[in-house]
Amino acid sequence: MRIIRYRAGAGARYGLVRDDVVYALAEQEPYGGRLTAGERVGPLAQVELLAPCEPSKIVALGRNYAAHAREHGADVPSEPLIFLKPSTAVIAPGAAIVLPAQSAQVEHEAELAVVIGRRARHVRREEAAGYILGYTCGNDVTARDLQRSDGQWSRAKGFDTFCPLGPWIETELDIADLAVICRVNGETRQQGRTSELIFEVPLLVSHISGIMTLLPGDVIMTGTPAGVSPIHAGDNVEVEIQGIGVLRNPVIAAPALP
Ligand code: MG
Repeated sequence: MRIIRYRAGAGARYGLVRDDVVYALAEQEPYGGRLTAGERVGPLAQVELLAPCEPSKIVALGRNYAAHAREHGADVPSEPLIFLKPSTAVIAPGAAIVLPAQSAQVEHEAELAVVIGRRARHVRREEAAGYILGYTCGNDVTARDLQRSDGQWSRAKGFDTFCPLGPWIETELDIADLAVICRVNGETRQQGRTSELIFEVPLLVSHISGIMTLLPGDVIMTGTPAGVSPIHAGDNVEVEIQGIGVLRNPVIAAPALP
């Protein structure tokens, strides 16, 4: 099942996509078990997609692919290395990534994003699947120069627009070995596989829920494969994950401050 959020008048609704046709979700939210199609909304191409969930927080993994750790001369961590991205960084498919004036080196990071389906605290690894609604594509956009100079990552990872998510949440997906790809202007920059994840998703849900309560709609960004590279105003960035789809976002320069 593919779950979307879309613009409906002045607000937003959740929907289901079948054969490129959108149906409103009968329930108010997709977090409660049942996912039933209600009224037919229309062709997918005619709805405005929003980010597919509204996380209270995004928990992201550093160095969860060995080849990416190596490209930064970093060791692979002995336990999951987590950091937070603010909910205000989330943007929809098609929305612009805004390059902030404070950075001269902003980079893409294609990642498998896990969407939490129900409140999770101290979840055991073998029970983790029951707390996951599904998976979407994420871009952990990073100001690499500030990540280096600050020594911690809140600013580098936290700018508005630095967390594109979408285009939808795929609920039935075997994530054992999926291609994770990033293209910039059609050129492939990253090409990894989820089978290369150092810490697997059930372990991540268990580890993180042992630290903080995960709420419905929260997102775990599972880390990025090798090949991160700078993006510039005018670029088009695509994150594609096999079995999910393609998340596309243009890149623009920050408008001058008044
Ligand atoms: Mg990342």
